[in-house]
Amino acid sequence: MDTDLFVAWFEETARLVRRDRDRLTRLDAAIGDADHGTNLDRGLTEVCKALTEWPPESPVQVLTSAGTALIRRVGGASGPLYGSVFRQMGKVLESPVTLAGFSAAFEEGVVAVERLGKAAPGDKTMVDALAPASRALALAVRDGVGVREAFEQAARAAAEGAEATIPMQARKGRASYLGERSIGHEDPGAASSALFMAALANVAS
Ligand code: ADP
Ligand code: MG
Repeated sequence: MDTDLFVAWFEETARLVRRDRDRLTRLDAAIGDADHGTNLDRGLTEVCKALTEWPPESPVQVLTSAGTALIRRVGGASGPLYGSVFRQMGKVLESPVTLAGFSAAFEEGVVAVERLGKAAPGDKTMVDALAPASRALALAVRDGVGVREAFEQAARAAAEGAEATIPMQARKGRASYLGERSIGHEDPGAASSALFMAALANVAS
């Protein structure tokens, strides 16, 4: 897995988030403050700009640059959380990048989000999409499946995880202020996390 694949991952995520911006914002309107789609679209536009202006020379540089741009430009709760996934991944990723190495680094990225957000699976946050994706990747590595298949399984797990937030009651973030009224809506951060994983599957195909 080379630098170009990592750049393509963020460019494809930017495309999917732009496409689904209004859906993400509608989800956030239901249980938050209606800014998630615009926040993330703005941040990913900045990520793409940074990757063009300062061409990265390694996967680690892509992750660090993307994470930093997300922290600076997304804002809200999700900016620092997404930023920490990729910056943490960049800290621990070994080169050359293998699927096993990617999976291990992604797992640490998810742990970083859980720590920063003090969120666990079931709290109705992005963790409910990211953690199943991480688990799916680890299983794919264990079973020795190829990169493309592994990313497709991770994308599926993330999409199912996002969908599974619908009946949950939010225990973290803005949506938690709604108490039981947060039930019945998909978490916007979980929905956008599923897009990050879908983008990975798209570029690996
Ligand atoms: P804000 O809530 O500040 O407006 P966004 O709308 O950009 O920020 O992002 C909201 C998303 O961030 C939520 O849907 C949820 O997935 C995620 N989130 C919020 N707080 C936490 C937290 N403490 N831990 C993990 N994820 C969180
Ligand atoms: Mg919001």
